Amino acid sequence: MANKKSDKFFKNYINGSMQPPASGMYIDNYNPATGAVFSYIPDSDERDVAAAVEAACRAFAQWGNTSLDERSRILLRIADLIEQNLPQLAAAETEDSGKPITLSSTLDIPRAASNFRFFATAVPHFASEAHYMPGTAINYTLRRPIGVVGCISPWNLPLYLFTWKIAPALAAGNCVVAKPSEITPQTAFLLAEICINAGLPPGVLNIVHGYGPKVGRAIVGHEQVKAISFTGGTKTGRDIAKLAAPMFKKLSLELGGKNPNIIFADCNFSEMLQTTVRSSFSNQGQICLAGSRIFVQRPIYEKFKNEFIAKTYLLKMGDPMQEDTQIGAVVSKQHAEKILSYIDLAQQEGGRVLVGGNAVKLKGRCSNGWFVEPTVIEGLDFTCRTNQEEIFGPVVTITPFDTEEEVLQYANSTQYGLSATLWTQNLTRAHRMAEELECGIVWVNCWLLRDLRTPFGGVKNSGVGREGGWEAFRFFTEAKNVCIKT
Ligand code: NAD
Repeated sequence: MANKKSDKFFKNYINGSMQPPASGMYIDNYNPATGAVFSYIPDSDERDVAAAVEAACRAFAQWGNTSLDERSRILLRIADLIEQNLPQLAAAETEDSGKPITLSSTLDIPRAASNFRFFATAVPHFASEAHYMPGTAINYTLRRPIGVVGCISPWNLPLYLFTWKIAPALAAGNCVVAKPSEITPQTAFLLAEICINAGLPPGVLNIVHGYGPKVGRAIVGHEQVKAISFTGGTKTGRDIAKLAAPMFKKLSLELGGKNPNIIFADCNFSEMLQTTVRSSFSNQGQICLAGSRIFVQRPIYEKFKNEFIAKTYLLKMGDPMQEDTQIGAVVSKQHAEKILSYIDLAQQEGGRVLVGGNAVKLKGRCSNGWFVEPTVIEGLDFTCRTNQEEIFGPVVTITPFDTEEEVLQYANSTQYGLSATLWTQNLTRAHRMAEELECGIVWVNCWLLRDLRTPFGGVKNSGVGREGGWEAFRFFTEAKNVCIKT
């Protein structure tokens, strides 16, 4: 660490205390808005994972049998502490990810608290089934925690998605070894301190920082880790499945998306327009549920195009720490380069950039940050790479369509199947389309409206399994049927 640029060294959270990595090595952690290293993350390896799993196995004997009330009380304390520390956590999330502070403080951190509160209050109501055989027997299903489970999460909604896995796993009585993204580790580090202050017993939750192929792989490959809940890219999901399948682990995989936003001429235009700006560019388009392929029915295509371009043009890009910034930095230099390469590709494929299309150098504190303009492209065929591959940045394509059949073909044409958005006032059509769309979530006349009780997940290469509500508790428990002859 000859050229040390910061005194901020994050630590792993293992067996209830903050610990340096076994290797003694650290990874640079960048602030994407300034391009500067501001902290260091443990470069952990299988030794740290082994220590975390050992602590989790020890803790499970007690945590798995802790009363529902007690588990619930501790998780509610964590939720309260997240809320009490909201400004600090939101600032940390923005520093790590480049997202606007208004987004961190109104979406990411409040949702992290909600995740704990939701599963803490749900678990006392989680019931299992009984099946009566008249005059013969009664069957009941015992649902017990699995034991030690692994939770691995991505960088786009760091604490939000990290807690979306950890909270149900813990509420169901499991002990957890978790790995946040190495690109955005800061709020997971702060969560460890919150867990200590909330009185979570040592070893119940362990957080190991570091690279995916080292730490993530060691978690997935550890024989004592019985289930893996993963959110991230489709390619990583495939690697995890390959490693976990021969070990017969339970797997929940939430993967990539290339979601259609389908706009019929009879929609409520102003509501649609406002929401479409959000579903295209919130978090710089780095949301797995973003509606990056916009299909517009021909009678309103030109009107939509003009008004959408005007609204996109007005989005305020700036220092993500400023309250009025709407577009912050993208998460890393490599990611900015990937996004820009897709904008080049779109043009090679015959697309016209209607607005945006460039990297931006801001003035002052953010002059070395990684900013990409919100970009709208038209003139592309639905089968081209730009319309088939996940860009995961502030880039959308717009395409006209005439009929329902035609737009269904466009919508269902990708390898992905996470979500879809539909804009129409015709209820019959909405039902018909919702049934035909190949995806796990359909929003009609809204976007990202979330009820945490609903099943969340994708089909095709967008994943396997569902999160949310009882689905999460079913995943994080093992069912055993007990048959008693009467
Ligand atoms: P990623 O797959 O590169 O990384 C995700 C996590 O997996 C990170 O913690 C990473 O360190 C770890 N990892 C990497 N290689 C690993 C390996 N071989 N074994 C175990 N763990 C490994 O994804 P990302 O770039 O962080 O996130 C962006 C992707 O996540 C996008 O594709 C996006 O669509 C997807 N995503 C999906 C959802 C969803 O709910 N479906 C939500 C958010 C993001």
